[in-house]
Parts: sequence; C-alpha cells; structure tokens
Amino acid sequence: MTPQLWAAVFAGATLVAVCTGVLAWRRRDRTPAATALAATMSGVAVWSAADVAVYAVATDLVRRVYVPLLLASVGLVVIGTYVLARTVSDPSWRPAPRRTALLLVEPVVMVVLAVLPATRDQVMSGMAAAPDGGEATVTFGPLFLAHTGYSYVLVGVAYTHLARRWMRSGGVFRRQIGILLASAALSTAGNVVAVSSQLDGRGTDVTPLFFLLTGLVDSWAIFRGGLLRLVPVAREQVVDTVPDAVLVVDPDGVLIDCNPAATRMLHRLRPDLDGDPVGRPLTAVAGPQAVAVLGTTERLDGHRVAEVRPGVWLDVRDSAVSDPRGRALGRILVVRDVSEQQERQVAVERLNRQLAEQVEVIERLRAVLAEEAVRDPLTGLHNRRYLDRALEADLARRPRTGQLSLLVVDVDHFKGVNDRFGHAAGDRVLTAVAGALSGAVRDGDTAARLGGEEFVVVLPGAGREQALVRAEQVRREVAAGRHLLDGETVGVTVSVGVAVCPADGTSAAALLEAADRALYTAKATGRDRVVAAEPAPRPAVPAPAPPGDLQELVPGV
Ligand code: GH3
Ligand code: MG
Ligand code: MG
Repeated sequence: MTPQLWAAVFAGATLVAVCTGVLAWRRRDRTPAATALAATMSGVAVWSAADVAVYAVATDLVRRVYVPLLLASVGLVVIGTYVLARTVSDPSWRPAPRRTALLLVEPVVMVVLAVLPATRDQVMSGMAAAPDGGEATVTFGPLFLAHTGYSYVLVGVAYTHLARRWMRSGGVFRRQIGILLASAALSTAGNVVAVSSQLDGRGTDVTPLFFLLTGLVDSWAIFRGGLLRLVPVAREQVVDTVPDAVLVVDPDGVLIDCNPAATRMLHRLRPDLDGDPVGRPLTAVAGPQAVAVLGTTERLDGHRVAEVRPGVWLDVRDSAVSDPRGRALGRILVVRDVSEQQERQVAVERLNRQLAEQVEVIERLRAVLAEEAVRDPLTGLHNRRYLDRALEADLARRPRTGQLSLLVVDVDHFKGVNDRFGHAAGDRVLTAVAGALSGAVRDGDTAARLGGEEFVVVLPGAGREQALVRAEQVRREVAAGRHLLDGETVGVTVSVGVAVCPADGTSAAALLEAADRALYTAKATGRDRVVAAEPAPRPAVPAPAPPGDLQELVPGV
C-alpha cells in the first residue's frame, strides 16, 4: 500500500468515526453509554486523522505532534471503552468524578511525557524521516510499552465485567452483550496483531480501523437493537421469578425482552411458535388475533381481560415507559392467565342462573300453594277464609259514598239430591252451581263457597238494584241447568238473600246476617227466589251526622 492509499483509508475511517461519534453524542441523554461511545469514536477519529496527517504530509513537525496525539486518542478510546463496558454491564453504573479524574491521569501524563524533550524518546523515538527519505523506523520506548500494558489491563477489567454480565443475562441482553463482546474481542485482537507486527518499528498501525469497527457494532447494538433502552433492574430477582408474564415492547412494537413465564405463555398462545420470541414483533409472536382482541377490549382499572383464544383468558396490564424527559421508551406488559378464574366465574354464573330458575319454580309453587289455601278443592271457588279477608278489604276500600252488595246463595232441597243420587252426584251438582256463580262474577267481585251447599258473592260498588239483577241472573242460570244423575235429568234451584252496605249493615258480620235473614225469607216463601234484606229500621230520632255521612243514612237504592 502506498502512503497515499493509507492516507485515504484513514481519512475514510476518520469520517465514519466522526459521524458515529456525533450520532452517539446526540443521544447522550438516552444513556451514559452514548457519551462513552462518543468518547471512543472521537478517540478513533483523532487517531485516524493523525495517521492521515502522517501519511499525507510527513513533515518532521507532523511526526513530532503525532505521538502525543496518538497517546491522547488512545487514552480516549480506552476510557470510552471502559465506561461503555461498565455501563452495559450494569446500566445503573455511573463513573464517579473521582474515578473519571483517575482515568484521565494516565493519558495526560503520557501526553506530557511524549512532549517533553527529556522523556519523549522514552515513549517513542525515530519518528523523524529516515535520511534516505524512506519510511521512518519507529522505536517504542519503555514508557510506551508500560502505557500499552496499562491500557490492556483497563480494557481487560472492563471486558471482565461485560463477560460476567453476559453469563448472568438472558434473552435480548445476553445476545446483545454477546455481540459487544465479540466486537471487542475483534478490536483487541486487531490491536495485539498491529502492535506486535510493529515492534520492529515498521509498518502501519491499523488499530483505529478495528476500534472503528467495534464502535460501529456497539452503535448498532445500542441504538438499533434497543440495548440499554430499558434498565433491567433486579431482573433476575424479580422479573424472572414472578408468575406473571412480563414483556417489554419497544416503541415499534418489537418484543425486546420477556421473562420465562412470558415465553411459556407465548408458546401456549402459539404452539407453533419456534425459536426465541425476543427481537420479533409482538404481533408475530403473540399472533395478530390475540393482539387485535386485546386492542379492542375496553380497559377497566388499567386491566384488559379478554378471551384471546377459545378457553384462554388473559388479564393484561399495560404501562408505558418513558425517560425522564417524557419520551416514549416502550411499554411493559404484565400478563396473567385468568382462564381458570374465568371458568370458575362462568360456572358460578351458571349456578346462579340455575338457582334463580329454581327460586322461580319455588315461587310459583308457593303461589300455587297460597292460591290452593284459599280455594275450595271441590268447586274451585274461593273458600271461607278468603271470603272473610276479601270482604273486610272490600269494605275497607269502599268509599264513604259508595255501596257494596252481598248475595248468599243456597241450593234448595239439596239434601234430597244427596239422598236420591248419592254424595258424588251431589258434588257434581255443587260444582255446576259454582260454575254458574263464577260465570256471573266480574273483575273485582268475589264468589266463595261458604260451606255445604251455601255460597256467597260479593259485589263491590253494586247497589241494591244491581245486586237484585245479578242475583236474579244467577238464580235463572242455575234453574236453567240440567244435570244427568243416574241416567236421570235433574234440575236444581237456588234461593238468594241480598244485603247492601251501608243500608243493611256496614260490617261483614252484619251484612252476612242481613243476607241470611233475607235467604231465610226466600226459603220460607217458596224457595227458587231472590229476596232483599229488609232495610234497617230508621232510628226514632236521627242523630246529627257530619255532611259526609248523610248518604249512609239514606236507605239503599
Ligand atoms: P233447604 O232447601 O232448606 O236448604 O234444604 P236443604 O236440603 O238444601 O238443606 P239442608 O241443610 O237440610 O241440607 C244440606 C245438605 O247438604 C246436607 C249435607 O249432607 C249436604 N252437604 C253438605 N256439604 C256437602 C258436600 O260437600 N257434598 C255433598 N254432596 N253434600 C253436602
Ligand atoms: Mg239448602
Ligand atoms: Mg244450607
């Protein structure tokens, strides 16, 4: 290679190093690793630029200035590499000011020693051009070798930290630290080869080219690969051991880390998933359907619970992560498989539904029983118990000015039916009479069997006239009925006593008694007839009554 060609190579290296350094510097607020990388790249840039100068200009002055420049830039590269490796090993690590000062001591001392005429030959000699104008023969002094040894030790310490971190890490961090280690090994090997091949003082030091390569790989790992974007604080102790699946997704939706529980969950979601899910888009590893289902599920108290696959229910808590300046770094998803709880809940809901259905059946049965308790089993009409309550309620509801009528219906000569045709035939006749009564009642009326062959019909709102008409209807209907008993067609009749409230009494007992009296009259006067109760006799001296009660004193219509 001609000197011009070397100058061109190093000029290219300078340019790339400057660009990478500037890019890293711009991102210095993201991570301290960026500052370290910028320092390394500026060292590489100065180193390469010095080489350009030596190959392009080759004056004595340039050669003299070259040595201190070389030492300064090597110092920058070494310190940058050290800080970068320590930061990647432990993202919470920061170089303390004291440590930074200590790190700077050696390069500064070396630069001073390289400048001072008394010591510069102890660093490097023979930098001046050979008398024949040929290539200079450089001799490394003991100070330079000491400096090289010191630099190796420092870089060795840093890489030991990195290697330990690599062994303890998993997932994306392990892979990325592995890449950094490999690239570091490359530059170190390159440097060892370059320095040892130059021990005779001839040849070109290509170390900056190797460091440039390392820097490029590091830039890619840090800025493109997401290394150090999220600090894995106590990851092994916490994240890897929690039963919940924890996934870290970068702003582009790429999964950049996940714990073992998450890997298991992803394999449950996608049994066909193979390989490490880290580094791939979340939609690809969790499946587009699961991501879409969760995306459309409403968030409740910061949780989304959705059935992402038949029978697989996930509870997902999604938190955005940002840097101190509020810029998005990604999202942390904490996912819990709640399929079992959901199954239990579904079972509980099913049981609840069954219970509600059973309660409904019981309620229906209870209602039937309650109805049966107030029904007469033979005729299906209400019984005496119900009649007492209904009559009291109707009387209580009766407006002061309104009326209420009561019919007491008794089958005539019923004993004769029983005697002639038997009890069962008598029952059939009773049922038929009850049917006639049911047909005669309207909404709000009550028809009840008082006992034996005696019935009562309550007609709320009906005055005497209406009651008489209704009683007559009942009487006629019963009389018209024909019953086939023992092959013989038989007819029965009823007698009806009518009482009206308030004219014939205002209590249930008084009304029943009045109607009974009227019934007795009906029986006594030939049966098969309707008789109204005699209006209660007027008091001899009417008591003064409030205006509202005047109506009650007027005999029923
Ligand atoms: P009256 O015209 O005076 O009312 O004469 P009656 O025969 O209808 O009256 P009585 O009180 O003398 O007879 C009523 C009969 O009704 C007596 C009883 O055996 C009968 N009886 C009462 N309860 C039932 C019943 O549930 N079924 C049947 N088949 N007969 C009953
Ligand atoms: Mg009778
Ligand atoms: Mg009777």
